[in-house]
Amino acid sequence: MAEHTGKGLVLVVEDERPIADLLRLYLSRDGFGVHVEYDGAAGLAAARRLKPVACVLDIALPGVDGTEVCRRLREAGDWTPVLFLTARDDEVDRVVGLELGADDYVTKPFSPRELVARVKAVLRRTAGPPDPSEAPVRLGPVTLHPARRTVTVAGAPVALTQTEFDLLAHLMRRPGRVFTREELLASVWGYAAHGGTRTVDVHVAQVRAKLGDAAGLLRTVRGVGYAATDG
Ligand code: CA
Repeated sequence: MAEHTGKGLVLVVEDERPIADLLRLYLSRDGFGVHVEYDGAAGLAAARRLKPVACVLDIALPGVDGTEVCRRLREAGDWTPVLFLTARDDEVDRVVGLELGADDYVTKPFSPRELVARVKAVLRRTAGPPDPSEAPVRLGPVTLHPARRTVTVAGAPVALTQTEFDLLAHLMRRPGRVFTREELLASVWGYAAHGGTRTVDVHVAQVRAKLGDAAGLLRTVRGVGYAATDG
């Protein structure tokens, strides 16, 4: 079943067997161990038992759906990177609207190569222990603690996904600097835009929602992109 290799184990939860088989093939060809489950409850149990380095979750699953699997992991304090497989645009809206704590998503039909590239990108971003010597970054009421990978607003902790943290950190480290969506995609996600800059908007919206009263810290610069500013 699960085989561990140097790159770590990826958990795939997908009830469509041809897609699951394709993901197993491509991920293992790239050096990952792969464990596949075909329904949400088994997927959740496997995530808890096997401690994968990343989870690829289909949204529409029998029983417990993918969004619920992710929500339960996050609820339990598990911030393993999660990539969703979505079948339709309205599912993308659910990923966004429910603030599920996803790190990325791909819409079916997708290229298995692209999915593997995204898994690797999220792992690159979250690899290695944080540098304990890196000083906190403050902007307005928001403080970013790189050493702990945590964020507080007026002293109260905010639960961000790895991707949300990296996005906020990228913007806050250069306050006032305006980044295009393409720049953010390349720097934060680690891959070139395939016309897929919507994912940037989605994550900015999620971070703003979590910052609450401090949401204005992330400013939209119309026609250009985003900047972190203090008022
Ligand atoms: Ca499905």
